[in-house]
Amino acid sequence: MSEVRGQKIHRREDKVHKRIKKIGIIGAGTMGRGIAQVFALYDYPVVLVDEKETILQDALNNVKSRTEPELWNKVSGHIETSTNFEKIKDCDLIIEAVFENMDVKKEIYNVLNKVCKNDTIIATNTSAFSINKLAEAVEKPSCFIGMHFMNPVPLMELVEVIRGRETSDATCATVMALAREMGKTPVEANDFPGFVANRILLPMLNEACFALMEGVAEAEAIDTVMKLGMNHPMGPLALADYIGLDTCLSIMEVLHSGFDDDKYRPCPLLREKVEAGHLGRKSGRGFYEY
Ligand code: NAD
Repeated sequence: MSEVRGQKIHRREDKVHKRIKKIGIIGAGTMGRGIAQVFALYDYPVVLVDEKETILQDALNNVKSRTEPELWNKVSGHIETSTNFEKIKDCDLIIEAVFENMDVKKEIYNVLNKVCKNDTIIATNTSAFSINKLAEAVEKPSCFIGMHFMNPVPLMELVEVIRGRETSDATCATVMALAREMGKTPVEANDFPGFVANRILLPMLNEACFALMEGVAEAEAIDTVMKLGMNHPMGPLALADYIGLDTCLSIMEVLHSGFDDDKYRPCPLLREKVEAGHLGRKSGRGFYEY
């Protein structure tokens, strides 16, 4: 085992899961590119798929900027990019990390049903959608599971693992072992809206939007209160920008409809920002400008 920037890197012979030899990642956005980086760092061949070449190129540039120069040859050597789903047909695990939109995710599963091997594990990185609901669109729900990485993936230790009603023990054990092998700590949660992480985090971010909208304080002041007063590493509005305001809104909508409880109603200011295309860091503007 060696250590790079505090991350423990296991050598190939340390692998505990021979079952997973090649990994496909659908969606090369904020999360997909981070997931690709981590698996490549751990010597897994990765195929990263997105709709446009420009997004894939941007993803690779972004991964390069976050990788130690002496590791770049290895990491880039393990990442193949493509806009063609045929390229993932021999993958043993597919991680879906496309927009937090149920229809878009289900369309992807329709394609995966045709392209993948029979025993391929399909893991969704959804932030909040019901795993059982998403599983309706996959051909083999026993091989379907939630594998919720945190942002930024290379730095965050947690992986929330969510089983659906039909997820097999073998699928769950494989995903848990793989997460551990990446130096992550997997924690199992049940299939409730937002699971654990976003059920607790997102209402706080949403409340910060309400505080801003109602004029309780300016954005910087709200963030400073939470950083210095609660010892949070990032203020809630800066964190919402980091996550993506469209993703935050979508999670609040899932909590609101899933629990049928108005305490989860999305803040109108959050909705307004998303409608204006101010999605946070990824669009250059959200609660702050980048
Ligand atoms: P993002 O908007 O940054 O990226 C999504 C990517 O999916 C885009 O590059 C888009 O082009 C691609 N995509 C959309 N439709 C596609 C298709 N049909 N085929 C191929 N690619 C397609 O989103 P993100 O923040 O990376 O979120 C991805 C998933 O991860 C969501 O489910 C989100 O809820 C979840 N998630 C996000 C965070 C976060 O902090 N951003 C954290 C944990 C989980």
